[in-house]
Amino acid sequence: MEANTARSKRARAAAGAGVTLASAAILLAALGASSGGAVSSNSAERALIGEARAGALTVELAPAVGEVTLTRGISPGRPIVVIDAGHGGRDPGATGVSGETSEKQLTLALARELRDRLAQRGRVRVALTREDDRYLTLDQRAAIVRRLGASLYLSLHIDSAPNPLARGATVYSLSDVASDAEAERVAAKENRAGGAVSSEPAGSVRGMLADLALREQMNASASLAERLVRKSVGRFLLRPEPHRFADFRVLRRAEVPAVLFEAGYISNTEDEALLLRADTRSAIAAALAQAIEADVASRIIR
Ligand SMILES: [Zn+2]
Repeated sequence: MEANTARSKRARAAAGAGVTLASAAILLAALGASSGGAVSSNSAERALIGEARAGALTVELAPAVGEVTLTRGISPGRPIVVIDAGHGGRDPGATGVSGETSEKQLTLALARELRDRLAQRGRVRVALTREDDRYLTLDQRAAIVRRLGASLYLSLHIDSAPNPLARGATVYSLSDVASDAEAERVAAKENRAGGAVSSEPAGSVRGMLADLALREQMNASASLAERLVRKSVGRFLLRPEPHRFADFRVLRRAEVPAVLFEAGYISNTEDEALLLRADTRSAIAAALAQAIEADVASRIIR
């Protein structure tokens, strides 16, 4: 009985936490605090379209964004995951040490492989923010996540550094303060992709609710990042202390558990060569896919 009571207390506590966040989300929606604005009211319609159609779902977004295709799950209503190939179009991202590779090409190749792997297993439905070489602002990427009502967002990047010996992958989750100077530099670089930043006035009800939701988002994102690291160990090269924190605008605006994954250094000869290989990308995609599925499943069960 003792154990049962303790268990039910824990269950109530867990449910309580869920209700708090859900209420905050509803209140935020009611207040129109979702910065998606015009797009946020479409979630019911989206769900209906999603259940009604067999096969891939195409969701129309703002003209600048175009259409996003959603893969099919093994059953209707599977959680949606948004995979973001960093950079694109007139923003090539970092350039490889060979001078022939750009970050935008490698992020797209990796995003496609991860999408295909997840789609094949069908445990989640997947949308890419871009499927070709096009430019999207950070806010447009985050808007896709919100508009789809996604459960998770993963932004893929390839790092570069003045030190040609810097190697290995890093997983970043959102925080107000960067974990180290390097994390701060990476965030500043990735945030340069443009777009105005809006925030709620401090002290307002809407601001406090947004802050509550943001703390929950940060905690969930940190646990996703830890899971990603655990799944990656031994499969490809990670930097020392691979989970780091910084204020990435695209993660903040996504409003769901979100991480930014830097797959290695394009400024390092060996990393660049490895990332150009399909087997390396496949190993990375396998680890990311497992972490994503486990993370989404853990949040559903809870
Ligand atoms: Zn990048």
